Amino acid sequence: MRDLSDIRVIESTLKKYGFDFSKKLGQNFLTDGQVCPQMAELACDGADAVIEIGPGIGVLTQQLALRAGRVIAYELDSRLIPVLAETLENFDNIEIVHEDFLKVDLAALIGDQLAGMRVAVCANLPYYITSPIIMGILSSRAPITRGVFMVQKEAGERLCAAPGTRAAGAVTIAVQYYAAAREVFSVPRTSFVPAPRVDSEVIELVPHRTPPVAVPDEAAFFRVVGAAFSQRRKTAVNCLSGGLGISKDAALAALEHCGATGRTRAEALTLEQLAELTRVLNAGDAQEG
Ligand code: SAM
Repeated sequence: MRDLSDIRVIESTLKKYGFDFSKKLGQNFLTDGQVCPQMAELACDGADAVIEIGPGIGVLTQQLALRAGRVIAYELDSRLIPVLAETLENFDNIEIVHEDFLKVDLAALIGDQLAGMRVAVCANLPYYITSPIIMGILSSRAPITRGVFMVQKEAGERLCAAPGTRAAGAVTIAVQYYAAAREVFSVPRTSFVPAPRVDSEVIELVPHRTPPVAVPDEAAFFRVVGAAFSQRRKTAVNCLSGGLGISKDAALAALEHCGATGRTRAEALTLEQLAELTRVLNAGDAQEG
């Protein structure tokens, strides 16, 4: 098996195909031979099949294929399809699909092609679409065992922050609503070619069977979360009033009902407080209507 993390192998393979990296597609290929086996080990734990996003030249794909019965990898860049056909030619359990993963209906894919299998998702993500990919996977409620993702360090810290702490944002709350999230290990920028401007980290998301809090309606919950975090420097009362188009008195009354005050900022609110806030504001809506 060729070591696809070896910089000489990467350079000679890409030269052969006249390939140059696309910044627009978030192409930073891994050059550290330790990282992909670790990611694959974690992703394949308890999984029969793995879906990969953005295989590049196949460095992670081959490690996944060594550990899972089946791997389906989605690559958007047409120039990489013939490269992958060559680099992964010795594997008969890998299917490369030339498609934008953002357009894939993950639940339908698993139901149609991987029925009865335990399926994980794994990727060294193109950073320009980290949030849409992760939120798309989680909100689809596709039955996956776990997601193992390489993301920018700062994004990972935010995605995995504990609600109620400074690093928390709207995306933290959304992730925590759907999954248990943890940072697994850091990867320096020097482990990629070309080297990105920031360091990275691997995170693991394990979807909850049922959400940790009950909300009357998910759309209303995410509206409240979005409004509460809409302006980081402002208090939650101002954000909620502006974001939801309600009076400051109504926003303050709802916050006080949840044990917060007029000075509380959104990042200090717990998941339970945000759920309770949604219930109180929803009940207020029902009374007005
Ligand atoms: N897995 C390889 C590695 O670790 O070296 C490449 C990772 S690179 C950070 C991201 C990969 O995602 C690139 O191959 C890029 O072409 C691909 N990509 C970008 N946008 C995509 C999309 N919307 N759907 C599928 N693949 C995409």
